[in-house]
Amino acid sequence: MNIAADAHTEGPSSYVRAAELELREVSKRYPGQLIPAIEKLSFTVPAGEVCVLVGPSGSGKTTAMRLINRMIPISGGDILLGGRSVLDRNPRELRREIGYVIQQIGLFPHRTIEENIATVPRLLGWPKARIDARVAELWDLIGLRKDELSGRYPAQLSGGQRQRVGVARALAADPPLLLMDEPFGAIDPINRARLQDEFLRLQQQVRKTVVFVTHDIDEAIKIGDRIAILREGGDLAQYDTPAEILRSPADEFVAQFVGADRGIKRLSLIALEDLTLLVPDDSPRRDAPATPVPRVPLTMSGRDALSLLLTSRATHLLVVDDDGAVRGNVTVELLHRRLAEDGAAAGTSARAEPTAGGGTWVGAVSSDGLDGKRQAAEDVDGAAKARSGA
Ligand code: ADP
Ligand code: MG
Repeated sequence: MNIAADAHTEGPSSYVRAAELELREVSKRYPGQLIPAIEKLSFTVPAGEVCVLVGPSGSGKTTAMRLINRMIPISGGDILLGGRSVLDRNPRELRREIGYVIQQIGLFPHRTIEENIATVPRLLGWPKARIDARVAELWDLIGLRKDELSGRYPAQLSGGQRQRVGVARALAADPPLLLMDEPFGAIDPINRARLQDEFLRLQQQVRKTVVFVTHDIDEAIKIGDRIAILREGGDLAQYDTPAEILRSPADEFVAQFVGADRGIKRLSLIALEDLTLLVPDDSPRRDAPATPVPRVPLTMSGRDALSLLLTSRATHLLVVDDDGAVRGNVTVELLHRRLAEDGAAAGTSARAEPTAGGGTWVGAVSSDGLDGKRQAAEDVDGAAKARSGA
């Protein structure tokens, strides 16, 4: 995406860029319903963070979204946006301050892309020049080419393009909160992964407070700063970071929901550049097979590295930087060790130790310099001492 670095700094609206969202013992009972759709649901999303709501079908995810923007009346509790109760707000005005993206998109079929994107600014009575400027900015922000698609109607777009326009429309008035209800649910897996990546890049730029609904736990892990897992009845089973939910699920329901492969999923949260890579051993090993050792980028996830290690014949991978320089080795054992360390109590620092094969432990020298280097030196020192039979 071609994003102007200052796309958000001025902010085309007077709203703050992102606002904290707090649900306080929120309950919802639909008319004629015996069991509430949501019962005393409480959680807080800090300003500028992405909270993913996951849970099985019927667990109240959509209901929660509609309560937040007051599309349906709340039965009990309170919802605060930027410290202010949404119940004190005029629902129409409130909705113009909350971007809403849904699976079936809800673009107006008889309006062009530009007109769709301009919906809320127009409702807010922005002058035409300001609307035009904002729409122009959003073409870039969502990665759609104006020269190619300008003037088209929603039916003339692919599903992925429509979804991008939906996101642009939701962001048009620079709202402090974005609600996204299974936005990529109807998109094929390849385009879905692409949209997820774009969303993450976009969020780096705009830093909105986002509530993102999905029933796909992998999407939740990839997208969320925090994940709220709901069970039937809108009951909050766990609210935590993806890493923490995978590391220690609160109960059997959460453990089942995140899946038996949660250990491997944890590796998807780690990039090779986050690991203390092994020093490449220059001398050829006696048992070295003739298989070429795969070279992989620093940005590769631990999960993909494990997969490659298990499916190639190589016992290690060479991790290379953008210039092709080798930064270190990664082995199955190293990944295993990292999981074990993460699983241990917080605060216990990893100690340098020699390893069975592939080299010694060194701190990956990070681009921010000194600390990483000093750590590396200490680690090498420690490793040398350990090896010399201390
Ligand atoms: P989810 O989005 O997690 O699939 P919903 O919020 O759509 O779940 O639904 C939660 C519960 O509320 C379900 O039992 C559903 O049948 C019920 N429900 C949703 N909308 C209505 C409605 N308009 N009237 C009555 N019950 C509803
Ligand atoms: Mg739903």
